[in-house]
Amino acid sequence: MENTLTTSGKRGALPVGSPTPESDPTIGQKPDEHCAVVGIYGKEQAFYDLLVSLKALQHRGQESAGIATFDGSVVHLKKGMGLVSEVFPEREGVTYGSLSGNVGIGHTRYSTQGTKTIENAGPFVISNSIGYMAISHNGEITNAEPLKEELKKKGSAFLTSSDTEVMLMELSREIVEKGVKNGFRAAVSKLKGAYAVTVLINDRLFGLRDPLGIRPLVVGKVRDNYVIASESCVFESLDGEMIRDIKPGELVEITNDGVESIFTVNNGKTAHCMFEYVYFARPDSIIDDMEVFTVRTEIGRLLAKEHPVDADVVIPVPDSGRAQALGFSNESGIPYSEGLIKNRYSGRTFIMPTQKSRSAAVKLKLNPIKSVISGKKVVLVDDSIIRGNTIRHIVAMLRRNGAAEIHVRVGSPPIAHACYFGVDMKTKDQFVATGKTVDQIREEIGADSLGYLSIHNLTKAIGKPGKALCLGCLTGEYPVNIAGEKYSYQAELEGYQVS
Ligand code: SF4
Repeated sequence: MENTLTTSGKRGALPVGSPTPESDPTIGQKPDEHCAVVGIYGKEQAFYDLLVSLKALQHRGQESAGIATFDGSVVHLKKGMGLVSEVFPEREGVTYGSLSGNVGIGHTRYSTQGTKTIENAGPFVISNSIGYMAISHNGEITNAEPLKEELKKKGSAFLTSSDTEVMLMELSREIVEKGVKNGFRAAVSKLKGAYAVTVLINDRLFGLRDPLGIRPLVVGKVRDNYVIASESCVFESLDGEMIRDIKPGELVEITNDGVESIFTVNNGKTAHCMFEYVYFARPDSIIDDMEVFTVRTEIGRLLAKEHPVDADVVIPVPDSGRAQALGFSNESGIPYSEGLIKNRYSGRTFIMPTQKSRSAAVKLKLNPIKSVISGKKVVLVDDSIIRGNTIRHIVAMLRRNGAAEIHVRVGSPPIAHACYFGVDMKTKDQFVATGKTVDQIREEIGADSLGYLSIHNLTKAIGKPGKALCLGCLTGEYPVNIAGEKYSYQAELEGYQVS
């Protein structure tokens, strides 16, 4: 097995003195995205389409990227820390080089479990008695630790702190013992939590989604190739088309005949992550039959009905609040305008060496348009509030630039609880909403008024009943049994307290 590990060295564990979420208001304001997975099986070299797919999915993880291909006899692997374009740089010609083969998988990562090092970057590859196995994983295995201990007792050795390695070892053990179909099924019965994965077993490509369908996974066709990906935006980037969502608990295999459904393990319950619709996914993606952009504009429309306000202009927090602001404007009749300009070339502030240069970078990143703001009653729309630092910073900036009133409207209910399913929100104390009333939050961010979308209207906008969604970070009740937390399918949607 060729295993070319490349690291830029910039994106690993942050050095001592690096800015923290507390010292830099641009860091950690929105939870960092989790991961993206892709798999391609076809009649052409898979590398180029894998690369385009990973770039289309870059928003889901910017910490590391990797590709593994199978050329008929061996697996080739290249992974490194950094953006897809840094791991596979243009200056090297972006040829597939040694990454040859008509079948392969790719991964971009933002870790929520395990340390931020090259060892934990995906895809993971092993060889066993049936040949090579590789896996790309989005989500989080909630029982990874006990499973790991069990596997260690049976002789498995681990090289990393990643839950993905645990999943691969579990799959490997079961598949070697029971064959592919029964092995996958046995592993699914043991794995708990969220997983959307692409798996390579020599020249065979599989896609597997956890039984609650917490993370998205879709399959589509591009020319004569089949593509499994985290989001459907990939297919447009490749000039292909989506075939369908992979169902919760479904294992599919791509063969020369197309997409074969091997089995589906599901008890009729789902727990699709509401935050995919609110923030994570690209607006042009379709997840479980709902276009994300449509959901977000509907969120904005319902937000305007729920929290009307007399104002002169609606402006979004770019980029994540745009669709919601548009919906708010359409419903309220208050004109929409861009009022904050994001400098997309300002770079990532956290690698800048001093606090002074970081502060300058914050200003470079988001600038107000004075003529839109000065003397106006402004509705400022964002998709969600996590720590509250960014929105506080923006409200202060609008005031400095002469806004007469600032009314903040948020396209999700207050987020006040941890996520255990692959989103970087692990502790309650990071949330501005924890333990506060809406008015206390308003005061903390310095707005004249503050309105959050209700859970009822969120589920209405997503077009699915609350019981079909994971709302754990809103309600503190989770669809998977987590020690010390409430376990439910969100039976009651109203009346949850933020505490
Ligand atoms: S807890 Fe929140 S972010 Fe995590 S899966 Fe559930 S809805 Fe998504």
